[in-house]
Amino acid sequence: MKIYEKLRNELKKRHLRITSQREAVLSVFLENEGEHLTADEAYEKLSHKNSHISKATIYRTVDLLKEMGFLSKVNFGDGMERYEVKDLNTHQHHHLICTKCGQVYEIKEDLLEDVEKLIEERTGFKIQDHQLNFYGICPKCQASKNEEKNTEEAARHSIK
Ligand SMILES: [Zn+2]
Ligand SMILES: [Zn+2]
Ligand SMILES: [Zn+2]
Repeated sequence: MKIYEKLRNELKKRHLRITSQREAVLSVFLENEGEHLTADEAYEKLSHKNSHISKATIYRTVDLLKEMGFLSKVNFGDGMERYEVKDLNTHQHHHLICTKCGQVYEIKEDLLEDVEKLIEERTGFKIQDHQLNFYGICPKCQASKNEEKNTEEAARHSIK
């Protein structure tokens, strides 16, 4: 897999050892794409797989992977430090966060190319990446709210 080769190269460049633990930490984030794990959750998943990695090693490795550009920190306003694998070839995808149930959805298309071009023209910046969160009510929560309304209404009608 390409990303592991890249990881090995980056480690070599920094004169760091290529350990199976470092690869395992990256792999747990790759295998749980879209879940935005915290370091603790990554630890849980790895210990289920019988990888003998200490929590401290996970924390250090997550920091290292972030610094090397393999993971990016995502903040959904729930006070947790979450991470996801950075797509090395594209800009970061957008997140849709439901303010009712906290579910996070992803939009994989960039959709920002025109905005990026505009910003580059206006500011002279060369845009490398961006992070964008949208907050709102997910379809499931909207549906359950309508249901509530309907049952309330039905209850009112049956009282009559
Ligand atoms: Zn994501
Ligand atoms: Zn973009
Ligand atoms: Zn929701």
